[in-house]
Amino acid sequence: MPQTSKPAKVVSVDYQCDVEGCDGVMRPAGMNMLLSDPPQYPHECTVCKTPMNFPHRYPNFGYVQE
Ligand SMILES: [Zn+2]
Repeated sequence: MPQTSKPAKVVSVDYQCDVEGCDGVMRPAGMNMLLSDPPQYPHECTVCKTPMNFPHRYPNFGYVQE
């Protein structure tokens, strides 16, 4: 298959804090990964500091076709 290229846009996927009335977003808390199965990354809210674990880091980057 020959390679082709098309313009694409980078999108950043964020996780908004679940706490009602809080408009913070979840950010990695330190560089540690929890060695669970699957591995989890500890995050905390930028505003209320609520901790949450996710299977990958936020913001998570992806591409969309224009
Ligand atoms: Zn919050």
